[in-house]
Formats: sequence, C-alpha cells, structure tokens
Amino acid sequence: MGALLDVSGLNKVYEGAGRRVEAVRDLTFTVEAGELVCLVGPSGCGKTTLLKCMSGLLAPTAGRVTLAGRVVNGPPPGMAFVFQEYGRSLLPWMRVGDNVELPLRQKTLTKARRRELVVDALHSVGLADAAGAYPWQLSGGMQQRVAIARALAYEPDVLLMDEPFAAVDAQTRADLEDLVRGLWRERGMTILFVTHDIDEAVYLGERVIVLSGSPTVVREELTIDLPDGRDQLHTRVAPRFAELRTRVYEQIQAAKRGTPAPGPVDRIEGVPQDRI
Ligand code: ADP
Ligand code: MG
Repeated sequence: MGALLDVSGLNKVYEGAGRRVEAVRDLTFTVEAGELVCLVGPSGCGKTTLLKCMSGLLAPTAGRVTLAGRVVNGPPPGMAFVFQEYGRSLLPWMRVGDNVELPLRQKTLTKARRRELVVDALHSVGLADAAGAYPWQLSGGMQQRVAIARALAYEPDVLLMDEPFAAVDAQTRADLEDLVRGLWRERGMTILFVTHDIDEAVYLGERVIVLSGSPTVVREELTIDLPDGRDQLHTRVAPRFAELRTRVYEQIQAAKRGTPAPGPVDRIEGVPQDRI
C-alpha cells in the first residue's frame, strides 16, 4: 500500500500575456494517512500553487498528485481546503451555520444529519453559539474558526490548510494552532499545513518539509521529535524546539543563497529522485 498522498515530479508553469512563471520546479514528497505535515517555504515560493494542484483546482504542467492511489484531476471527494483569506471564503450574506452547511449539500445527507454535523463542527472550534451570526459580525480569528468548522463538517480524510493564520493576531494564532493539533488528535485526519512561518511549522508538525524559494524544490524533510502534548508555554522554549527551528531556518537561508541541500541526495540539480 502506497502513501495516502503522493506528489511526484510536480511542476507548474504559469503562462499567459507574454509572461512565463515557473512557480514550482520539481516537487516530490509523500504524506501517510493520519500524518500532520507542515510545508514551510518563503512567500512566493509556490505553496499555494502546490496546494491548488493537490486539490485538483489547477492542472500541473508536469508530474502528478495521487490520493489513495488515484490521480487527482479535479477536486477529490474526501478532501477539504482552508484558504488563507477567510474574509473571501465565507459568504457574507449567509449566516455562520449556513456557511458551514454549504459544502454538505453536495453529499447525500438528510437535513437532520447536516444540521448535526454543523452543530458538532461549530462546537469543535469553540463557536457553538455563533450559528445565527453573520461572518462580518465576527472577529478575524472567529471567521477563520468558521472556515475550519466548514472543513470539519465535511468530514474530510485530508485537510489542506494554506497559511490559515497569517492574518490573525499572535494570541489568536496561538489558540488556533492548538485547535488544529487538538482536532488532528481527536479526529485522526491527515493534515497538510502550509506556512511561511518557521516556528509555526515546527510547533505544529510531526514532520516538516522545507521548500526552497521559487522555482520550488524540496529542500529537506525533518521529523519533529518533540513530545506529543505540545503547549505554547513549554514547547517553544524547549532546547529541542530551538535546534529544530534553527535547522529549518538554516535550510531556508541556504536555499536563498542557492547552496546545495545536504543529505544523501541532492535535489537542486533538478534530477528526479526518490525522497530523502
Ligand atoms: P506562495 O503561496 O508560496 O506565496 P504562490 O503559489 O502564490 O506562492 O506563487 C508562486 C509564484 O507563482 C509567484 O511568483 C506568483 O507570482 C506566481 N503566480 C501565482 N499564481 C499565478 C497566476 N495565476 N498566474 C501567473 N503567475 C502566478
Ligand atoms: Mg500562498
């Protein structure tokens, strides 16, 4: 049995209006069922492009993505996406409960079951009382919780998150990070979390994949061997946390300078190779 998600030789070139942008050069990595993996790379390195290819919203120029052995060529059932811009992902004229329910209408569920899933999801993100509010009546952090609830209600096997906390304040962000780890442990979903924030990647991930600057390749994969019960007070001051974040930081800096990646194989040459 192969990995749940398999990204192999993925390349994406945007072409149009006389411009050609190679956003993703050659990405190869896998994610196993039930993993919580963070992808970290500088802004503009092609993270959103990668996630759009993984969710079937964009067709890759070369290479492919498979989910449970099937090539992704359109939005796969069982996959949910939380976007960076929550402000644009919730419909302002619909109440929170209806926003969360919207994707469920694609499923063959009774009205009662849909309602149950909505209540459960809002409860999971600490917004049990917000179903009747409009998104614009909520703070940014609360709106992003609604977006997470909408993804949860869909009961996805795989959750893709694209810098979901980039626009919220530091305290809210810390709470939302803990929420994601809690949900991952409770629900056993596979989560791929994309961020440009090194500390966030190390704090959240069981594994971190470091991406180079654009055009993107995998720079390094690191297992995050921090204890499972992470918390904002102790984990971030642990010596091991500092070591891991330094390691990721060095890799990103080296990628900017264009120095070859360490390890048994060198991906910078652009030779398709198995993962490190
Ligand atoms: P990230 O999410 O890591 O910030 P993106 O995937 O958004 O990066 O963008 C990667 C590169 O591709 C950037 O140089 C960006 O300008 C370019 N790009 C993204 N979307 C498009 C598009 N639709 N058309 C042309 N270029 C694009
Ligand atoms: Mg992006």
